[in-house]
Amino acid sequence: MIDSHCHLQFNAYKDDYGEVIKKCQAKGMILNVVGTQSDTSEQAVKLAEKHENIYATVGLHPIHTTSTEVDEEEITFKSREEVFDYGFYKKLASHPKVIAIGECGMELFHLPNSVDKAEIIKKHSESFLQQAKLAQELDLPMVIHVRDAYDEMVEVIKLQIKNYKLKILQGVIHCFTGDWTQAQKFLDLGMYLGFTGVITFPPRKTNPEATAALLEVVKNCPLDRILTETDAPYLAPQKYRGERCEPWMVEEVVKKIAEVKGESVEKIEKAVLENTLRLFGKIKKPLKGGID
Ligand SMILES: [Zn+2]
Ligand SMILES: [Zn+2]
Repeated sequence: MIDSHCHLQFNAYKDDYGEVIKKCQAKGMILNVVGTQSDTSEQAVKLAEKHENIYATVGLHPIHTTSTEVDEEEITFKSREEVFDYGFYKKLASHPKVIAIGECGMELFHLPNSVDKAEIIKKHSESFLQQAKLAQELDLPMVIHVRDAYDEMVEVIKLQIKNYKLKILQGVIHCFTGDWTQAQKFLDLGMYLGFTGVITFPPRKTNPEATAALLEVVKNCPLDRILTETDAPYLAPQKYRGERCEPWMVEEVVKKIAEVKGESVEKIEKAVLENTLRLFGKIKKPLKGGID
């Protein structure tokens, strides 16, 4: 089982991350701990250094390119503003356990007050392009965060490919929650789609079509482009809704993908492992026994 996107370095685990890691170890998991700015990226690398089957991703989340109030069901904080420091992240990303650059991307759901939307898009694009450049330089894939900005993100990726004359920019659109039309645009660009516990949620009364549209993406997405993740501590799958999410809960995501696609859990796990090893070239195939 693989959680290709979690935040075990966050404060939510400060008292018991060792216990959480043990639970994941018992299930022989591979984890990718994802940074969101300089300190959480450094902490991700530290965790990866200590545990064999834990890897790290380093980068600057779009929400931290401005200071923004975030207040929703599971999350309330004020983001700390940071400018992407190429040299700092290059040094960090040269570590053998760093497998990708991110999470970076576009976030138009949480918009800071008093800042123009066009200005935000510009800021997020510039930060993304810098990180894409670093990913190219170090030959690493990207972990891309997109919320309420799928069309804008597609345009930025196309611009990046044109600028650098690249055929394909390697990466995953993590926690994909869009529809099939949006999904196809990313698949056409060679991207993978990461699914979280969101695919296990029942339809929302206010927007039942969105759930149906997301499950259509799960059904249609080619088996060789799917990744599994939790985004823990957020987005616990339906079975554990209301609890702090932990990486081993990704088993609920795997089960749901199998159910929607009409395939066995084993087949989905095998495909996800192959996809993960293909995209993140620096991950070593897990030895028996999992995380040490
Ligand atoms: Zn994200
Ligand atoms: Zn995340």
